[in-house]
Amino acid sequence: MDTRISEFSPIKIARYVSELDLLSNPVLNTQEKEFLADLYDFMEKVLDPELKKLEELNYLEEEPIQVKKRAIVIDIMKKLAEKGYYSTILNTDDYEVGRITRNALIAYAICGGRWSEYSERYIAGNYSIEMGRLAGGTLYCNPVNYASDEAQKEQFLVPVARDGQIGASAMTEFNAGSDIFSMELKLSERGDDIIAKGKKLFITNGMIANYIILYGRRDNGQLGAVIVDTEDQQLKNLRTTRVRTYGMTDAFVSRLIFDRVEIPKENLLHGHGLDIAFHQLTEERLVISAEALGDTMKKLLYSHAYALQRRQFERRLHQYQVIRFPISKKIRELNLMTTALIQYAREMDKHPELAGSKLMAANAMGLKISATELGFESSIHCFRTLGGRGFTTQYANEIGLLDPYCMVHGGGSNYVLEDSESRRFFKYKPPKSKYDDEVPRIHY
Ligand SMILES: Cc1cc2nc3c(=O)[nH]c(=O)nc-3n(C[C@H](O)[C@H](O)[C@H](O)COP(=O)(O)OP(=O)(O)OC[C@H]3O[C@@H](n4cnc5c(N)ncnc54)[C@H](O)[C@@H]3O)c2cc1C
Repeated sequence: MDTRISEFSPIKIARYVSELDLLSNPVLNTQEKEFLADLYDFMEKVLDPELKKLEELNYLEEEPIQVKKRAIVIDIMKKLAEKGYYSTILNTDDYEVGRITRNALIAYAICGGRWSEYSERYIAGNYSIEMGRLAGGTLYCNPVNYASDEAQKEQFLVPVARDGQIGASAMTEFNAGSDIFSMELKLSERGDDIIAKGKKLFITNGMIANYIILYGRRDNGQLGAVIVDTEDQQLKNLRTTRVRTYGMTDAFVSRLIFDRVEIPKENLLHGHGLDIAFHQLTEERLVISAEALGDTMKKLLYSHAYALQRRQFERRLHQYQVIRFPISKKIRELNLMTTALIQYAREMDKHPELAGSKLMAANAMGLKISATELGFESSIHCFRTLGGRGFTTQYANEIGLLDPYCMVHGGGSNYVLEDSESRRFFKYKPPKSKYDDEVPRIHY
């Protein structure tokens, strides 16, 4: 049974707003615009019908929708890979636009969708599909590329990065969330095998993954990373189940139980687990920022369209300043942050050594905090503008109202990041003088 209320018509985004179209953003150069135009074309022709199917399944509450969604999501990732949009790690020679810039543009576009002049309608974006792409195409592929030898690359990277098999990255545990260093899952050596024992939580793609990069503690106490080939989820002693989240309904966020899973020792990646996990942190933060900005654009388009159409007290909602002002303020903030994003991504592409820069990492962290908060606030504003309709799945699903709440935690919880950001500003060397015990004085 379809749970939609027939009196509520779908929100029609029917007007082009150039400030909410990345393609018309003067900051992008010709090559970037060409890349983006091809991507939007692919989204309109290939992705949009699939995303529509995923949305429609949300209204059929009695049906076993998970099985159907799983097949659609796996197929979407394959289609993205065929066009080079899943991972950007192996196909650097195929494009004039740099790898990280492309990754950011893809994230923005898939989250935000776009108004199509060609068919005069809004092409859907879907944040949870992008989160699956990020988990497989970046959080799995980048560390594997960084810490594997040639044989491992052939075996574990190519099937995901080039062929679109599903990858996942398993760090978070019940007691090691923000505090990743306190991970407890054991990776013990026994003969030719690594034996994995422990649990992981909130692992995007976990229950549909072909390959998982699994972080854990080795016999010497150091963190390590090993690739788990899930044998199409049939691997002995591995159990994967879905974590039900509000929002992100099409991302298979999972709980994993490794009950002495045997993994060949040659699947062990080279180097320290923390370095493997965090070497690509700046890129990850930029892509998460791009996701949040794309999603902000989508929420603003919906708020704008609804405010144009809905009439109360004999006026359209947009005629009230309290509705209008937050929209224009957020459009301004969106475009400022998008400019920063594009500049950072281009610089990272031009100077790969910036991946090791603490200042660049801090800038990307600041952008991640601001962009995800902007996404969060834009969703709150959209929710308020919709009134009671915001509480219906009919509108919440279409707009993905709850999706941006997730990324306030993804890629580092904002509180933790803000705490470390603010501490950076107050670092000082203790004075070595007779005033040692004094509180440091600030000179203006
Ligand atoms: C939808 C979704 C998908 C995810 N996908 C993945 C994935 O693919 N792989 C993976 O490994 N993980 C994934 N995660 C996990 C995510 O990275 C963690 O949720 C995140 O690291 C926070 O950990 P926690 O939930 O245990 O919160 P906690 O660490 O318990 O934190 C709770 C709150 O306390 C704050 N806090 C904690 N420590 C401090 C501090 N020192 N200073 C100030 N504030 C602090 C945090 O900011 C947070 O607000 C996902 C999470 C979600 C929700």
